[in-house]
Amino acid sequence: MGLEDETFETLRTAAAAGVEFDGLRLERADGGYVLETPIETRTGLDPDEFRTALEAVDEYVTNWRYWRETVGSEGQASRAFLRWCERAPLEGSAAESQQTEPLSVPERYDALRNGVDRTWGQLRITARFLDVDEPDGVRVYDLWHVEDADTPLSELEVYDEPREAREISTADDDGRYRPLKTAPTLASGWAFTGLSGSELVDAVDFFYPATIANWHREREGDLDVDHWVDAAKRQSGIYDVVDELPREALEWLTEACCVDSQCLRRREWEYSADDEIDVDGGDGAFPCREPCSLVIAAARKWAILESESETTYELELTTSELNQLEELIDAVADGRVDGVREADVNDGANRYRARYLRAKRFEDGSLNAIESDDQ
Ligand code: SF4
Repeated sequence: MGLEDETFETLRTAAAAGVEFDGLRLERADGGYVLETPIETRTGLDPDEFRTALEAVDEYVTNWRYWRETVGSEGQASRAFLRWCERAPLEGSAAESQQTEPLSVPERYDALRNGVDRTWGQLRITARFLDVDEPDGVRVYDLWHVEDADTPLSELEVYDEPREAREISTADDDGRYRPLKTAPTLASGWAFTGLSGSELVDAVDFFYPATIANWHREREGDLDVDHWVDAAKRQSGIYDVVDELPREALEWLTEACCVDSQCLRRREWEYSADDEIDVDGGDGAFPCREPCSLVIAAARKWAILESESETTYELELTTSELNQLEELIDAVADGRVDGVREADVNDGANRYRARYLRAKRFEDGSLNAIESDDQ
C-alpha cells in the first residue's frame, strides 16, 4: 500500500523524535533514516528510500498509526484494555503481568482478519479490522454474551449505542432485577457490532462498572484494596452495625456472595491486611477491591441475626424429612428451585414434596419445634 504524503510527513517527523513501538523502530541519524523491525534493520536511508522501506512494512506503520492517532490515551486503562483485546503486548509496568503469550504485529494482523476473541466475565469481545480486504490498521469491536458466541447475528437484537448496555444489564433472562452487575446472570440475546475502541470501553463499563479501571490498576501494581475491617468501620446510619459481624461469619458471607458462582469479580479484599479469609477469592479476570453495597447490605442483616444466642430445639422428623430439609436449603442456595420439575417427586425440593412436608409438620404456620429441656 502506498503512503500518502501527509502520512509520510508525519512519519518523518516522528522518526526525527524517535519511534519505538510494537517492534517498529524509526530514527533519523546523521547518515540518514533508520528503520528497524524484528525482521530487518535498514540504515542510512535517504527520504525516498525511507518512504519505500516504510511501504514495505505497511503492517507496522498502520499499526503504529492506529495506536498513536486513533486510540492514543497512553498509560490509560482504556488503551491497555484494547491492547488486551487483541493480545497485543501490554505497555509500561503492566507488561510484567502479561497473562497470555502476546502476539507480534504480523500475527495480530493475521488474527484480526478473522477476529480475535476474548472473554470478559460473561462478555465475548471480538476485535477485527474494519476493512478486512485492505486493512489500514483501523480496528472495530463486536460485543455479545458468551452464550451467543455461535448464534447468528440475525437471531440477536443488535445495538450500536453503548449506553444501551445499561438497560440490557438491568434484568436477567427471566426479567428479574440484577442488584449485582457482576453476578453471572447477564441476559443473552443481544449484540453490539462495529464499535470503536472508546465505544467498546464505554459499553463494557456499563455492563461491569469499573472493572477495566481496577484490572488496569492491578496490573500497574496500583490496586487500592479496602479490607473488610476498614470498610465495615466506615459504615454509618443503619449500616453502623456491620462491624459487629463476627470474624468467622466473614467466611460464610464470602462463600455465600463472593465465590465465582455468584460474582465474576475476583475478591482481593480480606478480613484485614494480615488476616486472610479462607474462602477462595475466585478466578475472575477483574479484581474486587472492596466489599460492595450488596455485601454490606447482607452483612447488616447477618450482623443482626448473629447477635441472637443459639437454642437447642426438639423436632420430630424422619431421616428422609431431615434429608429433604437439607435438599431444600441446597436447592434455594444454588438457585435451582425453578428447575425442579413438578413430576420429579424424588427431588426433595419438589414443590409437592415441600407442600406435603409443610402439611405434615407445620402447626399454625410454623414447624412444631420445642425448646429442649437441656438448655
Ligand atoms: S464484594 Fe463480593 S459480591 Fe461484591 S463485588 Fe466484590 S466479590 Fe462480588
